[in-house]
Amino acid sequence: MNILEEIKGASTIGIGGHLRPDGDCIGASMGLYLYLIKACPEAKVEIFLEKPADVFSCISKIDQIHTDFATEVEQFDVFIALDTSKERLGEARGYFEHAKKRINIDHHVSNSGCGDVDHIRPKASSTSELVYEMIGDKSLIDEEIAKALYIGIIHDTGVFQYSNTSPATLKIAAELVAYGFDFSKLIEETFYEKTYVQTQILGRALLESILFMNGKCVVSMVDKKTMKFYKAQPYDLEGIVSQLRNIKEVECAIFMYQLDTLEYKVSLRSGGKVDVAKIASFFGGGGHKRAAGVTMQGTFHDIVNNLSAHIDAQLKEIGKQAED
Ligand code: AMP
Ligand code: MN
Ligand code: MN
Repeated sequence: MNILEEIKGASTIGIGGHLRPDGDCIGASMGLYLYLIKACPEAKVEIFLEKPADVFSCISKIDQIHTDFATEVEQFDVFIALDTSKERLGEARGYFEHAKKRINIDHHVSNSGCGDVDHIRPKASSTSELVYEMIGDKSLIDEEIAKALYIGIIHDTGVFQYSNTSPATLKIAAELVAYGFDFSKLIEETFYEKTYVQTQILGRALLESILFMNGKCVVSMVDKKTMKFYKAQPYDLEGIVSQLRNIKEVECAIFMYQLDTLEYKVSLRSGGKVDVAKIASFFGGGGHKRAAGVTMQGTFHDIVNNLSAHIDAQLKEIGKQAED
């Protein structure tokens, strides 16, 4: 897909991504935004996302993001949903649904496509990688566009560590780095660096984690009271689930934080055996084979029980296949 061909003739273009946007969602959306305002100077291009975390303020023109949404829905000639299907667009969903042409660009295996034109590639490391591929005329890419897309790629690949990193990902990253930004500073400041509060909550979540299913699973939870005590936002909890997954012999890590009395945002990570996208999809969420998420209702124990039944069933099935 060449993005310029898909938006040909459009004079208003909207861009949106998922709720609680992560590095890939922000990098892909901002990379595409920066490219389109350059490639289509006559068009009105607008970007809608929930407020990005402060670490992303190094991305050029990030202040152009509309974080509060007009009550009256504007009709765009084209609206592009990135890194999600329409269900998680939040308040931008109305813009997407009312647009004359809807384009959906994503890499989640759980997304079957929701646009008039879909570009869903579960093998891609990130939506940022897809955006780079869709820019036909690479001569318009500059350092700022390259930096935004690179941030997206490093966040979704855990700095090229996760198995979604392919030779194509590394080749694209090499091409992006050639634009000259300080990539090592970017990795340090947007990925590894944590605030004191983030580090404290991480420590607490690790300390309170519970190992179960003979050490194959680990779970930890942060409740609303704790979030309030630390004045923590959801993005302050990013990375906790990956730390839990690093525990030796753990096949599946569960991390959840409380949204409401009987409602939790659940993150699942797998070492490769368990397909967590399948489990998250069963409960109405989605994601990738080794990283998925879902919002679930019930008590902490109900949720752990429901999830572990699925994890256990998958591990037993794998065990059976190995015996055959
Ligand atoms: P998280 O655990 O929130 O970091 O999410 C892990 C992966 O699953 C990311 O690629 C998310 O975009 C995706 N994901 C998280 N929650 C959902 C959901 N409710 N529906 C679909 N995909 C999700
Ligand atoms: Mn994402
Ligand atoms: Mn992504």
